[in-house]
Amino acid sequence: MPKEQHPTCAKCGKRVCEPRIGAKETPPLAEAPPFCPMKLHSPVLEQVLSEYEKPEVREFARLASIQEFECYERTPAGLRTKIPRIEELIQFAHKCDFKKLGLAFCLGLAREARTLTEILEYQGFEVVSVCCKVGAVPKEKIGLRPEEKIAGPERWESMCNPIAQAEILNAEQVDLGILLGLCVGHDTLFIKYSRVPLTVLAVKDRVTGHNPLAALYLSSSYYRRLLGQTELGG
Ligand code: SF4
Repeated sequence: MPKEQHPTCAKCGKRVCEPRIGAKETPPLAEAPPFCPMKLHSPVLEQVLSEYEKPEVREFARLASIQEFECYERTPAGLRTKIPRIEELIQFAHKCDFKKLGLAFCLGLAREARTLTEILEYQGFEVVSVCCKVGAVPKEKIGLRPEEKIAGPERWESMCNPIAQAEILNAEQVDLGILLGLCVGHDTLFIKYSRVPLTVLAVKDRVTGHNPLAALYLSSSYYRRLLGQTELGG
């Protein structure tokens, strides 16, 4: 039986979804690979187009794309990037006329959360923030054994409480939630329970200064173990 095809854009070398053609030409979709989602899920693609016809969705998507455009500049030397993500976030929030921002942060990034709050307030936003340990619920509540606590079996350790973070930002009716440094899994729960629009300023990576792609860039050398190779790079 032939293997079932799944969308695998990450392995595509054709990229006919972003062809280098003139604005009035037609993308050569027939040349897409067999695993292309444009071939495997064409009804979905048809269906989502009607979502963009909803005025509020269309406007949000339009502003997001204008923001994307404004992150570049054309110079005599070519196209260049212009601003860091934090400015992208500030500009986009102003474009959307957001007034009240909600920061969901990890206590391990408390300093960053304070600085971010100062910046966002200086930029004219009202900022609500909720740290991951909110509720002061002991980890035993979700079934952790004493030896599974980071601080040690004898110490109190509050569990991360992403559901509470999400529900508090929902109750505060923030215009935009911002994730700052939540752990893997805790961020999953936060996103699941959030009912406000979200963006991510940074994700947690304890060993790379919160830059998870650093390990990916080093996956052919110092992090070869990620691909099953044990030998260290030189
Ligand atoms: S959408 Fe199709 S053409 Fe575009 S990257 Fe994915 S597989 Fe390739």
